[in-house]
Amino acid sequence: MRIDILTIFPDFFGVLDISLLGKARERGIIELGVHDLRDYTHDRHRTVDDTPYGGGAGMVMRPEPWGEALDATLTPETVVIVPSPAGVPFTQAAARELAQEKHLVFTCGRYEGIDQRVIDYAADTVRVREISLGDYVLNGGEVATMAMIEAIGRLVPGVVGNPESLTEESHENGLLEYPSYTKPSTWRERSVPPVLLSGNHKAIADWRYEQQLERTRRVRPDLLPDGE
Ligand code: SAM
Repeated sequence: MRIDILTIFPDFFGVLDISLLGKARERGIIELGVHDLRDYTHDRHRTVDDTPYGGGAGMVMRPEPWGEALDATLTPETVVIVPSPAGVPFTQAAARELAQEKHLVFTCGRYEGIDQRVIDYAADTVRVREISLGDYVLNGGEVATMAMIEAIGRLVPGVVGNPESLTEESHENGLLEYPSYTKPSTWRERSVPPVLLSGNHKAIADWRYEQQLERTRRVRPDLLPDGE
C-alpha cells in the first residue's frame, strides 16, 4: 500500500518511522510520502489560507495549492481521505475496507477547513471519503490522519506478525474485547480469574464471551443489536 499525506506540518509524521508501521515501511509493505502543502504555493509568504467568502470568523484553506498537490499525487486507484468533524464517523469496518486499497491520500485541513471546491474537484476523478475521528473538533487533520493510518496500517497483511491477534479485538465482532491478564498470577493480592489458569479451552472461551457481553452492555450498549 502507498500512503501520501498532504499537510502544512510534515514534521508531525516523524513518528511513523517508529514501531510497527516504521518496520512495515522498512520492509516495503507500506510506502509513505509526506508532502508540505506550502511547496505548492508560489508567493513569497507561501500562503495557504484566506478569509471566508460570505464572512465569518477564521480562515479557509485556498484551493490553488491543494489543486497542485492533488494533481501531483492522485492516480486512478487513489482514495482521498478528507479528515473532517463533518465527515462520516471512522470505524473498524472502515479501517478494514481501506486496508484493501492500493493508494490512500490524506488531506490535512487546518483553520476552518479546506475550500469545498477542492473536495468536489477530487471527487470528479477519484473516490473521496470525508471521515470524522469523533464528535469533537481538533485543530487540524494531522492527529486524525495519524489515528486512521495506525488503524488501517495494522490491518494491511504482513504489518502485524500474528494475524490472529487482529481478529479477537474490540469492534471486530461487534463486541468490546474481554479483559486480558498476564504473569504473575497474583499481583498486589489480586488474582487472575481462576478459569484462565484451568487449561479448559471451552470454559475459557465461554468466560471470555460472557465478559465481552457484560463489558459491552455496561460501556457501549449502543453496539448491541437490541441497544440493551
Ligand atoms: N470548521 C470546521 C467544522 O466546524 O466542521 C472545523 C475545522 S477544524 C478547526 C480544522 C481541521 O481539523 C479540519 O479541516 C479537519 O481536517 C480537522 N479535524 C477537526 N476535527 C476533526 C475530527 N473530529 N475528525 C477529523 N478531522 C478533524
